[in-house]
Amino acid sequence: IPVDDFDLVIFGGTGDLARRKILPGLFRRFRSGQMPADSRIIGAARSELDTSGYRAMIREAIVEFGGDEKSDTDTLDQFLNALDYVAIDAKGEGGWSELKSLIRDKVIKAFYFSVAPSLFGDLAERLHAHEIADTDSRIVVEKPFGRDLASAQALNATLAEHFDERQIYRIDHYLGKETVQNLMAVRFGNVLFEPLWNSHYVDHIQITVAETVGVGGRGGYYDKSGAMRDMVQNHLMQLLCLIAMEPPSVFGANEVRDEKLKVIRALQPVEAHHIVRGQYDASDDAASYRADVENPRSFTESFVAMKCHVSNWRWSDTPFYLRTGKKMKARTSEIAVVFKDLGHKMFEGDSARHRNILAIRLQPNEGMDLQVTIKEPGPGGMRLIDVPLDMTFADALGDDAEDATDAYERLIMDVIRGNQTLFMRGDEVEAAWAWTDPIIEGWEARNDVPKLYDAGSAGPDDAMMLMHRDGRRWRDIK
Ligand code: NAD
Repeated sequence: IPVDDFDLVIFGGTGDLARRKILPGLFRRFRSGQMPADSRIIGAARSELDTSGYRAMIREAIVEFGGDEKSDTDTLDQFLNALDYVAIDAKGEGGWSELKSLIRDKVIKAFYFSVAPSLFGDLAERLHAHEIADTDSRIVVEKPFGRDLASAQALNATLAEHFDERQIYRIDHYLGKETVQNLMAVRFGNVLFEPLWNSHYVDHIQITVAETVGVGGRGGYYDKSGAMRDMVQNHLMQLLCLIAMEPPSVFGANEVRDEKLKVIRALQPVEAHHIVRGQYDASDDAASYRADVENPRSFTESFVAMKCHVSNWRWSDTPFYLRTGKKMKARTSEIAVVFKDLGHKMFEGDSARHRNILAIRLQPNEGMDLQVTIKEPGPGGMRLIDVPLDMTFADALGDDAEDATDAYERLIMDVIRGNQTLFMRGDEVEAAWAWTDPIIEGWEARNDVPKLYDAGSAGPDDAMMLMHRDGRRWRDIK
């Protein structure tokens, strides 16, 4: 479905994120006919480039980072014709009047802040001072949104000086994933799951986001941040909210976000012995975290595992176990809803534990599977086995799955449509920091030393113990 005509300005349009994700994503939307022919995309960044230089840069990016597989060069040329470029200084006056002259009246105006957060205030202020943005314009802001409650509040206050909350789109690309939205469809669109979605039937929930990469080129930033700030406060908490929230009365932006906020507010403070911090160590051909960030005395965590409680009627007895880390043995993101054991076993000789598990995979192979217990085929009597009912999107949807929109392009189209459902509201972000701040402050106050784990492993042994103590185990990372 095509969106309305728009002008989209990408501040930081020459940066890594713009070249790897934003522009290849926009190209795919263009190719599928969703972007109106007159719409413009304006890169605005520090580099002294002209428009043809910028188009050449983006052509290369699209060829390198994907999106070009199915298209002829004509389509790419047409897309590149929709691009302009302005060299701009967020902190000075250079480039702003040129930018103003490029923006049309009477179209949707969106401004993507793909720059360091320290520039958000400058951009907001200049967009306002130069009368480029109007009361219907939208701004999109990237993570990290603050590094604690105080800085997030300050950032919210700065943006609020020039933009209303309804104009601010705080992006968390996890929320743009097909499976994440499907999670809501499965929960609220079927009669099967919602009646069981509570402490009476759910033993526990596991959320794992495991990466195989280390800190890459982001060592300087990451070492001041760590897994708790970089992953847990935003991505994992957002996933937890979607799993745990009450059904909103309608699927509207504020209704969904109200329910997510209630979950964050119901999270109990986490006791220190319910958290394991880890840092990857060298192994075989992999360097240690400390070598990667070039800080031999770093105590920053590249791994966190924790047990949390959502203290409300629905979840009072169901723990949520969260785990995320870098340099783990496989790249996996999944949510597993582990149901309780049957109260009574009627099949003689069946001593094994059989459990229903709904596993929602965000990557790789987005999809879901539901582990169910059936009779082992053959003449051996009533022997039971657990098998997955697999619903990999690529299998279930065939060709349509190939067009499954990448998270960024879906979210950008939502910005143009004015749909904030999949974006974090200011109060949500602040509530999430209010929950994580005391945990991080506790570590800092006692100079907590993270447990080392081998690069390429499943994390520190203590993370295994966190579950074992409760008679549970993590699902395999594979
Ligand atoms: P980058 O360093 O590659 O690019 C920064 C961009 O900002 C460049 O285009 C540069 O020209 C522009 N810029 C810098 N100073 C400027 C100024 N004074 N005036 C105008 N433009 C200026 O950064 P990036 O990796 O593209 O990240 C951009 C934002 O997105 C950051 O907030 C980052 O935290 C966030 N982010 C990035 C990724 C990623 O994968 N790269 C992922 C999540 C979030």
